[in-house]
Amino acid sequence: MPDYDVIIVGGRVAGSTLAARLGRAGLRVLLLERGEFPSLPAVSCPIIYSPTMKLLDEIGADESAYAHNTPKIHHMVTITDTYMSKVGIPAAHGRDYAYAVDRARFDAALWDTAVQNPHVEGRQNFAVTDILVEDGQVIGIVGKPKEGETQRITARLVIGADGRFGIVARKMQAQDRDKMEAQPTSIYYAYWRNVAPLDAAGASAAAYDAPGRYGYLVMDSADGQTVVAVEGRSDEIDPDGKDIETFYSRLLRRNPKVWARLNDAERITSVRGMRNIGNCYRQPGGAGWALVGDAYFQKDPLDGQGIYDAVITSKILAQYVRRWFKEDITWDEVLAKYDEDARIKTYGTYRMLQTRIRSTFYSDVPLPEPFARWLAEDDHIKDLLGKTLTRQLPADLVALIGYPVALGAIARGGIKEIQQKLRAKLPF
Ligand SMILES: Cc1cc2nc3c(=O)[nH]c(=O)nc-3n(C[C@H](O)[C@H](O)[C@H](O)COP(=O)(O)OP(=O)(O)OC[C@H]3O[C@@H](n4cnc5c(N)ncnc54)[C@H](O)[C@@H]3O)c2cc1C
Repeated sequence: MPDYDVIIVGGRVAGSTLAARLGRAGLRVLLLERGEFPSLPAVSCPIIYSPTMKLLDEIGADESAYAHNTPKIHHMVTITDTYMSKVGIPAAHGRDYAYAVDRARFDAALWDTAVQNPHVEGRQNFAVTDILVEDGQVIGIVGKPKEGETQRITARLVIGADGRFGIVARKMQAQDRDKMEAQPTSIYYAYWRNVAPLDAAGASAAAYDAPGRYGYLVMDSADGQTVVAVEGRSDEIDPDGKDIETFYSRLLRRNPKVWARLNDAERITSVRGMRNIGNCYRQPGGAGWALVGDAYFQKDPLDGQGIYDAVITSKILAQYVRRWFKEDITWDEVLAKYDEDARIKTYGTYRMLQTRIRSTFYSDVPLPEPFARWLAEDDHIKDLLGKTLTRQLPADLVALIGYPVALGAIARGGIKEIQQKLRAKLPF
């Protein structure tokens, strides 16, 4: 008899939500995390939208815990030298707001949700160091608690929820799929206190453009903190061996509007970041193992969908794993169906993200100013953006109708401007 039904390596978003779902199905789950919760410094600086929160409702995660003292964000704002455009977050699943969650608090709350289930045993400070394989079949893991002896633990299934650099994919030599590496990007971020509010409308998530091929993101987060991130093409924002903190400050100074908001502010965390962020799917698994979350599907954070993707892939995998334990489906069918369903939910946004990276950071011909402004201020475009963010419209459909809608927006913007100029000239 194996020690557990399922061992999950990695206890953040993908791992803890998967454990919660499998535990609810009565499976004996061991959830292993080499870190400790709440863990600092923050491993990322995410914004989450209502579809993610709805999936978290399903496993009983408490919004008042994971978003404790975190302001509700009702608008996404774009700010350039010539205009400011606000996209309202449309209501979906009973919520018309987003959160720039404090990642340490968020991960700790999800972990607590998982281990509340009597079928889930969670061990923090436990690093998995190897995968046990017998006759080509994964049968468990080798690992070590922070203080203690190396252990061998067996299970019918080992799932890697261990992030983009995870050990399960590495040891099992999981194949990359749909890899996109032609447009490398990097991101650097830190948390600040006393950042000047954008305006009187309350908490905000504001994207500022930059003279080069990068941009800034300033988002109000928990406990009066604000995250300030710089993202762009890797060759443009390359510290090149220089001190990262000085490099980050220099980038912030280049945008007077961002810098003005930081006038009385104090940076309260170190600068963290990621260079040459990978974009790919991986094979979903093999004999006795599977991958979920970033370990299965990783990409640039520009569209703010990584956490949704981690939670939805864990939901889909959980559904098929439950059926496999009931002997209703073979393991090969589990992997095929999981991969297919996960791609249906994520591939459209992945393609849209690559287009967005190209147009935001890699386009040689930037959109002329009035066109960009007319697009950003058009109500139809704003509606489309809001519904895409909250996944009320599938990304494939938006990509299909995007060009005609954009042409319409440019035409409407141009006509409006001509009308305004004519009105200003007419004597009556
Ligand atoms: C700068 C940045 C900004 C981002 N912004 C957003 C955003 O705005 N919105 C959004 O939705 N997403 C965002 N993301 C993406 C999001 O953070 C990820 O998609 C998400 O964290 C994936 O969750 P995960 O559980 O799959 O992996 P991870 O969060 O990477 O967790 C993996 C866990 O596995 C553990 N682990 C690894 N190896 C082992 C081992 N050998 N033994 C035991 N444990 C192990 C690690 O300690 C870690 O806790 C951002 C990412 C970055 C880097």
